[in-house]
Amino acid sequence: MVLWTRLALDPVAADGLGGMPDRRFEVQWQVAKDDRFRHIVRAGNTTADSRSAHAVHVEVHGLRPGTEYYYRFRVQGHVSPTGRTLTTPSRGLSQALTMCFASCSHFGEGFFTAYRRLAEDQPDLVLHLGDYQYEYPAKAADVRVVQGPETRTLANYRQRHAQYKSDPDLQLAHATAPWLVVWDDHETENNWADEVPEAPDPGFLDRRAAAFQAYYENMPLRRAAKPQGIDMRLYRRFSWGDLATFHMLDTRQYRDDQACGDGTKIDCAERLDPARTIMGDRQEKWLMDGFRRSRSRWDVLGQQVFFSQRDVTAGPQQGFSMDGWDGYRANRDRIAKALGTVRNGVVLTGDVHRHWAGEIKENADQLDSRNVGVELVATSVTSTGDGDESTNAGQLAENPHLKFYKNRRGYVRTTFTAGELRSDFRVLPYVRTPDAPVSTAASFVTVDRDHTLHPA
Ligand code: FE
Ligand code: CA
Repeated sequence: MVLWTRLALDPVAADGLGGMPDRRFEVQWQVAKDDRFRHIVRAGNTTADSRSAHAVHVEVHGLRPGTEYYYRFRVQGHVSPTGRTLTTPSRGLSQALTMCFASCSHFGEGFFTAYRRLAEDQPDLVLHLGDYQYEYPAKAADVRVVQGPETRTLANYRQRHAQYKSDPDLQLAHATAPWLVVWDDHETENNWADEVPEAPDPGFLDRRAAAFQAYYENMPLRRAAKPQGIDMRLYRRFSWGDLATFHMLDTRQYRDDQACGDGTKIDCAERLDPARTIMGDRQEKWLMDGFRRSRSRWDVLGQQVFFSQRDVTAGPQQGFSMDGWDGYRANRDRIAKALGTVRNGVVLTGDVHRHWAGEIKENADQLDSRNVGVELVATSVTSTGDGDESTNAGQLAENPHLKFYKNRRGYVRTTFTAGELRSDFRVLPYVRTPDAPVSTAASFVTVDRDHTLHPA
């Protein structure tokens, strides 16, 4: 378990240092079995200093598996709010897991009510699949004022993270359950690919290092994820007993540049090049190895971009997004084939600011080939604003393996048991004003070994 906090007197100070004096502070932490801290089971001290903008990461060991805990911090008489967390169970299939996942939370484009509604669902675990924050400066259409310029420096990224962390709905969601996070592009820059920025920029590697450092400082990540210059090991695996293994992927840091100049392309031959990768060889080997060794009921990929084939062009021509797995066809085919070797494959996706649900085909071009898993795509928390009731019937007809689409903001709530995976696509009618209610636009059940979405 990683406990996270940050000391800041003036969180959104433009230098990113939170208005803190340039010295070390002793921080006490406590973990208890109850939220009134009568039964403290672990406690300790750590230091916070300006090298990490007074961020605090505590890795707690020796807790009991499958157990709920509460934690808090204290520094110079100030006591933090209390967080709730839960350790992973060691084994067994009997207990259900409720996991909510989200992506694409632009501070300016809406209120983070979806995070509050997610917290009210009291999940055991939260996954964030990227675009936790956006690099852009404030724009006229925003409903909240984003602080600072487009983020390029460490100070910029720190200030941006601090503004996001000041949001009470986001704070509540973090305080409610443990989070497993992976980034997508906007934590650094739109559509970056390994060492290639969106547009030529000789300072990109410095920018990338700054973004990684600020991301590490502001997320509940282990020391093993601490960035070394432009490198940061984010992909990692977690098992929820024998029920589920979460393979958390990084499809940005190791990918080849987008094919055919990025964007949506028809007849792009480059995307079919078998040498192209979205994962990098090492991460792919690591994932294949994880699949081979898995004895889990559900093998879940927590990742960023659209995995299944998605033809966005009406009629016999096929148009594909070069930024998703369609732009890295051979890599996708290998992973789809490997998904067919595990008991139940589930791919979780963010990025596209819409809810989607689909069945993953072993061969993307053969719609009668067998299903090897299901893909659940979470809409954005706020990005692109309120949305509408459009049905996107054309794209659904073009891609019969895709079963559901919704253009509202929200998140996906999943419940894993030994026998089935239930997914509830949670939606808010608006985000440009606060306090929207939440409802479920659609639910699906996927039965053990069935790889199919059944409307529930
Ligand atoms: Fe996004
Ligand atoms: Ca077409």
